[in-house]
Amino acid sequence: MLLRYPFDNQRKSSELCITMFTPAQAERFAAMETPFFYYDLSLLKKTIDVAALHARKHQFHIHYALKANVNREILQPIAAAGFGADCVSGNEVLRALEAGFSPDKVVFAGVGKSDKEIRTALAHDIFCFNVESVEELQVINELAAQAGKTATVALRVNPLVEVNTHHYITTGTAENKFGIPPRDFDALLQLLPQLSYVKVIGLHTHIGSQICDMDNFKNTCLKFNEIRRWFEEHGLQFTDLNVGGGLGVDYKQPDEHPIPDFESYFDTVSRYLERTPQQQVHFELGRSIVAQCGSLITRVLYTKQGETKRFAIVDAGMTELIRPALYQAYHKIEAVGVAADESYAYDVVGPICESSDFFGKEVVLPALKRGDLLAIRTAGAYGEVMTSFYNLREKAPAVYED
Ligand SMILES: *Cc1c(COP(=O)(O)O)cnc(C)c1O
Repeated sequence: MLLRYPFDNQRKSSELCITMFTPAQAERFAAMETPFFYYDLSLLKKTIDVAALHARKHQFHIHYALKANVNREILQPIAAAGFGADCVSGNEVLRALEAGFSPDKVVFAGVGKSDKEIRTALAHDIFCFNVESVEELQVINELAAQAGKTATVALRVNPLVEVNTHHYITTGTAENKFGIPPRDFDALLQLLPQLSYVKVIGLHTHIGSQICDMDNFKNTCLKFNEIRRWFEEHGLQFTDLNVGGGLGVDYKQPDEHPIPDFESYFDTVSRYLERTPQQQVHFELGRSIVAQCGSLITRVLYTKQGETKRFAIVDAGMTELIRPALYQAYHKIEAVGVAADESYAYDVVGPICESSDFFGKEVVLPALKRGDLLAIRTAGAYGEVMTSFYNLREKAPAVYED
């Protein structure tokens, strides 16, 4: 008994993760090469419908943030639902247009837009540039002049609010690189009359990601109102108000909460964001639309009893899903089609030569053996898009089910 002590981490089977995958799916997966991304398109469509339903109630406009997932099979139903697109690179603008998003619903954000990217967006007459610095505004003005166009822009402002999320995914605090800092507002107003090729139509903000506390959105609206009033008092009117994205999803209980609480989210903004009936309100939702429809399916290559830990070494790694390594993110991990009486707490780790290459620690799973399948859930957002070829890894394919 004493010898086994560090390894004696057997758990009750009642703590076991029960997979949502059916035996038929498990059987199908077992015949497939791993790792791969699995996307449930029917859940995606349900999520789109629920988001659209609650947005419509307030006449809100949703722009899907492409950076969460850019697969064409994912983009098409979102574009077909009439959503706009939120892009953060020139290539995302091109991908959005190719997938069927209307150019007059494309917004383009990002702190470091290159000249080439700005020209691309101008050439396609996108709806709006979300401008993040005074210098960028001058460059857009210059490039628009060269192109013989007027660029419509929104000023991205930093509301300086603290939010409850991992500090790597906050974007609206005093230390973040995003948005035009309030200290530049005066200079911006002085400069504007000289910029004849930009037209300021909107005010924009985005405070971060994976935010589940509605108070964070409420506080953002209150700060946003203040900033908007300041600009109005100084002679700048906005037709469009864009409050960004950031609505979180339930990584812990994906089956209990497959669809985020869009209703509370939109109701909160509707209640606290001041607007005139003429002002259009825009959102940029990424994660909340696509996270839950995706899983990363991986196979156990080896099990190993370390000095103090029991490892399940799987064939997917941080090259497919970097969120745990990058943001200490939690993903639910389930065994798929594994029947075992015993269960153990495993550190589920990848093959990449980095100690941060893990998916979960002390994850209670049925006793695993080589060849068993695991599903890493809620991997539809910021998963496949962050794929890297580190260690000369091959790109994991995507499979779709309707
Ligand atoms: C990332 C990002 C979004 C989307 O954030 P989610 O948390 O995925 O909804 C929206 N707007 C901007 C400017 C972003 O950078």
